[in-house]
Amino acid sequence: MENLVLFNNPHFIIDMMYARSNNMSGQPVYEQIGYGNHAYMHKDMAAALEKIVPILAEKKLKMRICDAYRPPLAHQKLLEIIPFNGFFAATPERSNHCHGTAIDICLTDENGNNLLYPTEIDAYEKRFQEQVCRGDFSEFQKHLIKARHDYMEASAEAIENRNFLKSLMESHGFESIMHEWWHYNLTGWQGYPLIEWKK
Ligand SMILES: [Zn+2]
Repeated sequence: MENLVLFNNPHFIIDMMYARSNNMSGQPVYEQIGYGNHAYMHKDMAAALEKIVPILAEKKLKMRICDAYRPPLAHQKLLEIIPFNGFFAATPERSNHCHGTAIDICLTDENGNNLLYPTEIDAYEKRFQEQVCRGDFSEFQKHLIKARHDYMEASAEAIENRNFLKSLMESHGFESIMHEWWHYNLTGWQGYPLIEWKK
């Protein structure tokens, strides 16, 4: 816990998807374990995010944070609810979220309306949540192609927004991953250990 900080900044909207029930698990897992709608993260990641503030201010944008540090207990619960090999990292140790060094984000306008992207964060759509919880991944797997950085069939505006977010994050100490446009790892994540959650 000692390296975890509670991130709060007026240029960011804290909207942790696993604190609400409209996520792929259909359950407010973060509320269930007493974590709630809070964006805790490693202090090094918080410092990297703070450096983005001048650009957000200049462009009159905000950043929506939909996941940051994820308590290992919450990760375990999500694995139980969504029995899909590959949807979540197989163990908390393997998820950078449980190390406080990963973040799921998008940009919004000044009023908090998400800019246009090829999918919602987490590729979330209610119909997929119901299918995935039933163990049916066929349609969702097809949809996940749209979550990739190399998916070019989206509108020009959606692609431009995805690319802008990528260049913004990569120039501020983060690394993208090909298969989730919303997910960024803090550069150097390999050196950060798992962090247990104690309330
Ligand atoms: Zn993520």
